[in-house]
Amino acid sequence: MSESQGPQHPIDPIETRILDGLALANEIRAELADEIAQLVATGEREPRLAVVLVGDDPASRSYIKGKQRACERIGMASVEHLLPESSSQDELLRLIDELNADDQIDGILVQLPLPRQISAAAVAEAIDPAKDADALHPMTAGRLLAGTAELISCTPLGIMTVLDRYEIPIEGAFAVVIGRSNIVGKPISLLLQQRNATVTMCHSRTRNLPELCRKADILVAAAGQPRMVKADWIKSGAAVMDVGVSEVDGKLVGDVDFEAALGIAGLITPSRRGIGPMTITMLLRNTLHAFKSRRRE
Ligand code: NAD
Repeated sequence: MSESQGPQHPIDPIETRILDGLALANEIRAELADEIAQLVATGEREPRLAVVLVGDDPASRSYIKGKQRACERIGMASVEHLLPESSSQDELLRLIDELNADDQIDGILVQLPLPRQISAAAVAEAIDPAKDADALHPMTAGRLLAGTAELISCTPLGIMTVLDRYEIPIEGAFAVVIGRSNIVGKPISLLLQQRNATVTMCHSRTRNLPELCRKADILVAAAGQPRMVKADWIKSGAAVMDVGVSEVDGKLVGDVDFEAALGIAGLITPSRRGIGPMTITMLLRNTLHAFKSRRRE
């Protein structure tokens, strides 16, 4: 039997719930908006996110606009800092220092990717961990490892929120994560493990990937490989969290063969209106959280 061949017995189709990521994101954003309105009603200023973009990549510009619009809609302030593509690392680090020192700023987001001359690692380390809304600082990653993180990588936190809101049992579940990046694969593996799932983290050199996936009650696909996860990789009733976003023939597709997974997965996230809106929502959540923590200090 080849690696990608599935079980020998036919599986009865089941009803697959499809996540409406936008509806869930809007529900959570309304909760955040209420919390901000209550703070403002007590005389607090609104929380404020600084968004930094170096260069004028159209996709990055559109991402930061989307994030700023999301801030506005929940009553959160955002300030934009646009630096030219030719900016040096020192120039960007100086701006980050200013934002770190500015008491009116609660969260700092530096949009990636950065131009070649700037080290993303150096930038992540320059952000004050108390304002690390995008959870990129090594201190934030270390706190996640220690189980003490308050600011958590946005996409993994979005996935955990989906699982919780859809009441997917995590404790004791067998979870398979495809991908081991610092922003998705590693943090989601830790978060699932901290909630008592048994987690296997897979990557490009993993052997028997389909076989491992077939055992998963929770399958997180974050490899960036279009439609890699086939129907016969999915256990009947599994919660399938498709993080991957790739463009194929002008269309956005995920890491999971979505159509083929219907009738097999118990819950699945589509590539549009799936995990994406949840990621932005968690950026807002982190900024509000940073605001509240800084007030307590
Ligand atoms: P990355 O390129 O940093 O990491 C990809 C990981 O997948 C690596 O660990 C690699 O070992 C693994 N991998 C690659 N090919 C594989 C294969 N054939 N089999 C098994 N493992 C394989 O990517 P990333 O930053 O973690 O992002 C992953 C995907 O998620 C991308 O498509 C990205 O665009 C998307 N993404 C979406 C959101 C969102 O909000 N929806 C957020 C972050 C990332």
